[in-house]
Amino acid sequence: MDKRTFLKNSAILGIGGAIAGTVPGTLKAAGMLTAVSHGEDLYKLPELDYAYDAMEPYIDAMTMEIHHSKHHAGYTRKFNASVKEAGLGETGIREMFRQVSRYPAGIRNNGGGFFNHKLFWKSISPKGGGEPKGDLLKAFEKSFGSYGNFRKSFSSAAASRFGSGWAWLVKTGTGLVVTSTPNQDNPLMDIAGVQGFPLLTIDVWEHAYYLKYQNRRADYIAAFWNVVNWDFVAGRFILIPD
Ligand code: MN
Repeated sequence: MDKRTFLKNSAILGIGGAIAGTVPGTLKAAGMLTAVSHGEDLYKLPELDYAYDAMEPYIDAMTMEIHHSKHHAGYTRKFNASVKEAGLGETGIREMFRQVSRYPAGIRNNGGGFFNHKLFWKSISPKGGGEPKGDLLKAFEKSFGSYGNFRKSFSSAAASRFGSGWAWLVKTGTGLVVTSTPNQDNPLMDIAGVQGFPLLTIDVWEHAYYLKYQNRRADYIAAFWNVVNWDFVAGRFILIPD
């Protein structure tokens, strides 16, 4: 069984999320972990909490697999190389983002790619969808007038981001704000137009939706609401970022 078949079968069996975590020694011995194993690297490709097909029919299994095992793996590998090259091994990622304008472009692009995808995988869940509750709902009402207004604003930010990028819900000193960033930038970076603590994100690079939705980005954004992980967003909302 080759690696690709293994990953596909893993997704079908629902054990895809376990690949990089507590893995049976037999798999390790069989050399099936190279796609997600980075040896001594400081930053590791995170395992997913669900199988690649868990977001069907909203996000298709092949997109999830390629997105995680190729795109995110690539950013992770290149970020480790960039960190090494810049001698930033002792610097935390948040600190790198705070001063990202001072560092080589590889830190901004690959560090953003590494971090943004991590947040994206957590932003969605097969048990997601529905609407936020409690204090988070109240915060939406305070900052946007209603949850519906927030949703329109976020969808619009995602749809109108020209080219490749991300839309964000961020917590700032004055409340919740929607913003978007180009490429792999994020609101933790000093170069971002709107800065704050990100609670929720959607990847609107074409690789995130093209296989299923082709040019219909709006359909992908509409489908995204069915898998938004409100428990995760609510958990981040109560954090006090440093
Ligand atoms: Mn992506």
